[in-house]
Amino acid sequence: MGAIAHGPVSLALNPVLFHEDFMTATTEKMVHYPMIIAGEPITSGSEEVLDPATGQAFATVALGTSADVDRAVAAAKAAQVEWAALAYSERSAAMMAFADALEAHADELCQLESRNAGKPTKLTVNGDIPFSIDNLRYFAASVRRQEGAAAGEYVGGYTSLIRREPIGVVGAITPWNYPLMMAVWKIAPAIAAGNAIVLKPAPNTPITSIRLAQIAVEAGLPKGLINIVTGGAEVGEAICTHPDIGMVSFTGSTRTGKRVAELASSTVKRVTLELGGKAPFVVFDDADMEAAAQGAIVGGFQNSGQDCTAATRIYVHESQFDAFVARLTELANQVIVGDPFGDDTDLGPLSSQSHLNKVTGYVEEAKQKGYHVVTCGGEVPSQGYFFPPTLIVDPPQEASCVCEEIFGPVLVVKRFSTEEEAIALANDTPYGLAASVWTLNVQRAMRMAKALQAGTVWVNDHLPIASEMPHGGFKQSGYGKDMSHYALEEYTVVKHVVLELAGERRKGWHFMVFGKEGT
Ligand code: NAD
Repeated sequence: MGAIAHGPVSLALNPVLFHEDFMTATTEKMVHYPMIIAGEPITSGSEEVLDPATGQAFATVALGTSADVDRAVAAAKAAQVEWAALAYSERSAAMMAFADALEAHADELCQLESRNAGKPTKLTVNGDIPFSIDNLRYFAASVRRQEGAAAGEYVGGYTSLIRREPIGVVGAITPWNYPLMMAVWKIAPAIAAGNAIVLKPAPNTPITSIRLAQIAVEAGLPKGLINIVTGGAEVGEAICTHPDIGMVSFTGSTRTGKRVAELASSTVKRVTLELGGKAPFVVFDDADMEAAAQGAIVGGFQNSGQDCTAATRIYVHESQFDAFVARLTELANQVIVGDPFGDDTDLGPLSSQSHLNKVTGYVEEAKQKGYHVVTCGGEVPSQGYFFPPTLIVDPPQEASCVCEEIFGPVLVVKRFSTEEEAIALANDTPYGLAASVWTLNVQRAMRMAKALQAGTVWVNDHLPIASEMPHGGFKQSGYGKDMSHYALEEYTVVKHVVLELAGERRKGWHFMVFGKEGT
């Protein structure tokens, strides 16, 4: 999720509050963010929310329990009936008004997302927030194009038609790396399809999801249509096992995704899983090397590498390897790590102390094993959870830094000699979320696009996504799609309606009717 091709939404963030100003503004009175159930703020429980750029608390959030999930599901169930009964045009108009309201709050949402998730405002202003709004508008519009099919007579004397119906109540569980965007990727198709939703944000980044649900109510969406229950695994598990939830839409790690699927199977829920990744980035000797080097910087380091599609394994043809590593090092040294509210900041902090420990652990292990580790970008701030852009040059393919998702600003660069070898190395992973190939040879590009086992393959770029196009994984990166009409379909069930035409048939007994008139 990164460099984003979105519609003509532009935001003016005026004026950007620099971190210190924002601190002063908020330390006097720490804001408490409630859960939102049935459109009402539920303030029970309290946990501190930390600013990853300082490691200091800047707000508190309510702490939900499985009893709150029960309440939220009951509210969602009640709201869903009337919502689903609206004509598509009415549902669409209500969602468009919601999108307009979000746009009116864009400034605030950018500030909060940068504060809570440590994202540079460059990203939230130009990426996360406008793209979330675009996504909402896309689904508001696309539901009006949703078609069933009045298909005709498959059984003689009968006619068949296909209806697409909502599932009912959808449960959603989201991660901390793109908090608002991940929430909208689930809420927008779910409600467009006529469902209501109970969403659990990640425990450390709940704030913009809470504001989203508050703004939805202010914009006139029915109370109970979008419910936010805060908390950790206990709340997530209550969502996965709740008998009145028909579908769980999950984004997070592969490990948790497996647990979600297991729990959801007890009530045979539909499940979509958007899980981890370890995207290969394959550079051939006929590529535009400067474009590829710059692409690796953006693809690997954007959002401090906390991106499921991040370019983490850079495979470069051996003839270009040394020059490429040299240029990558040069560029990585220009990356500015610092205050998310600084105008020039490219990378903010990692999202938490525990995540910083995990990323540090991978790099320390690489050093201990004697791999060539290049730390770039100069000093990083000592306070907060900052980590410098880092290259690990030519470790063995079986090294944990090559095989496992580090989810930080750490690029592994390796060499290959033939196209066959590049394909084998790129696909040598349990993940299959995204990949890119860099070449100016169109036949090679097409061969590679076919051979790479990933839900998205970019040619001569890495990261661009669009609301109209699907996002989702192969292999252990999960199943199901976010965005696009494929996602809208995920949130519906198909019903076959069979209508007897003549009004005569049931006057005799026909035990088996397949395909043609029974006897
Ligand atoms: P995580 O799996 O630790 O947590 C994700 C969510 O699941 C959180 O809300 C968490 O509280 C909840 N959760 C934890 N235990 C649970 C349980 N037992 N039952 C139900 N819910 C539970 O992931 P994370 O660390 O928050 O996010 C990073 C991961 O997300 C990375 O692996 C990244 O690749 C992945 N991700 C994937 C995509 C995608 O589109 N494929 C997008 C963003 C992030």
